[in-house]
Amino acid sequence: MKIKFYGTRASIPVCDWKFLEFGGNTTCIKLTRDNGRIAIFDAGSGIRKLGAELTNESFSQDQLFIAFTHFHWDHIQGFPFFTPAYNPNLIINILAMGRDREIENLEGIFKDQMKAEYFPIPLQAMGAKFNFLQIEQNEIEINDVLVQVIKQNHPGGSYGYRLKDNDKCFVFCTDIEHGESIRPEIVEFCKDADLLVHDGQYTNEELESHRGWGHSSMDQAIEVAEMAKVKKLIITHHDPVHNDVFLAKVEKECQKKYPNCFLAREGMEIEL
Ligand SMILES: [Zn+2]
Ligand SMILES: [Zn+2]
Repeated sequence: MKIKFYGTRASIPVCDWKFLEFGGNTTCIKLTRDNGRIAIFDAGSGIRKLGAELTNESFSQDQLFIAFTHFHWDHIQGFPFFTPAYNPNLIINILAMGRDREIENLEGIFKDQMKAEYFPIPLQAMGAKFNFLQIEQNEIEINDVLVQVIKQNHPGGSYGYRLKDNDKCFVFCTDIEHGESIRPEIVEFCKDADLLVHDGQYTNEELESHRGWGHSSMDQAIEVAEMAKVKKLIITHHDPVHNDVFLAKVEKECQKKYPNCFLAREGMEIEL
């Protein structure tokens, strides 16, 4: 299994040159299985480049899953620019799994952001065939991959994903706010993962003034990784005010606490 980051930024894309190392695009991850098939997590602005790469590589999958943690703007804003969605031969499965999702109409979320007031091309004119899969379960198997989710504390709700494929385990927990302590269920969910990608938008000081915003500190990401004994930790969802110099410094501090820890960089690829 390979994991590649196309978007690492929180909230809004940043295109300042001082942010190029860690990346300015909002959340998007590509997962490539050992058989070469891919799936995508979230459609932040990073999905535009991912789509362009797939088009250049003559992407030939007939079906594609895009799994969503939740539907805040920074996790869907790249979707209208995902060129494979304009291919009439492709079936795109938009997946929102998990019990107690606080959404009424999954298709409506995508239709609405492409209404004429916001975007020139409506969803139904893109071309691909869309299946909107809102699955009220916390565990399913898709093409021999065990997919589990956990509801996270985040305004409007968000879900962490845990995938097990050929004995490799990938966990993605972004847009998660911990309380005073880490919930045991979250630790259990991340337990022994080969790779944990975790929200770390804030420093401890910043977290104090952003209680209720739905995010974690870098130290909390490390705490989860330690408690769950994950093999590798990647901290993502970088705050738009954190430039490369700042993040490089933070990364060194994090590595002193948890050696196999890195801050996500756009374009970074990890093989499990
Ligand atoms: Zn977000
Ligand atoms: Zn969010």
